[in-house]
Amino acid sequence: MRLLIMGPQGVGKGTQAALLAEHYQIPAISTGDIFRYNLKNQTDLGKKVQAFIDKGELVPDQLTNSIIKDRLAMEDAQQGWILDGYPRNAAQVEALDQMLAELETPLDKVLALQADRQVLMDRMTKRAEIEGRSDDTPDVIARRLDVYAKETKPLLDIYKDRGLLLEINGVGQIDQISKTVISQLDHLDHTV
Ligand code: ADP
Repeated sequence: MRLLIMGPQGVGKGTQAALLAEHYQIPAISTGDIFRYNLKNQTDLGKKVQAFIDKGELVPDQLTNSIIKDRLAMEDAQQGWILDGYPRNAAQVEALDQMLAELETPLDKVLALQADRQVLMDRMTKRAEIEGRSDDTPDVIARRLDVYAKETKPLLDIYKDRGLLLEINGVGQIDQISKTVISQLDHLDHTV
């Protein structure tokens, strides 16, 4: 199973990615988590990406693409994966297309989780209190949502045109949402 999980900040991508990873026994790969790990450990990569993340801007494509390329080559990614937070702009879609063509492993589905802006803002405000992420300040949250609307949301149409998009309501019980996703993906398995 090779999946993308897309949707705005606060919609629950990370939570659903973890549940799907468990169900399908594949890794959930989050570019945001990889960057945060490197920030925390002050690695060379961490130092390079800090300023972008603190401002809510996208990290340069070259860096992000090469991280994904390396990660997809790892042993535990050979049976499938879920990408959370990548691709995030048109250039990254192109880079991913090229990587997957070289690996001869096409995408199975793109999940798009949806929720109203007010729900997203409420969830992120709550998360900011709990997790204390440095990019969860009101200004940076607003910037991240703007970047999402401008750069990332239009990508959904690309995947829709390819017949890969599965749109799911991100509001409701966490395990109910996950059940809905899995039943739709299993249905897909039986029909192809
Ligand atoms: P969120 O979706 O809540 O903004 P993420 O953990 O997905 O959180 O990403 C945090 C930050 O990491 C982003 O604001 C951006 O700076 C950087 N980042 C994550 N994924 C990408 C990506 N695919 N391309 C560029 N930058 C990224």
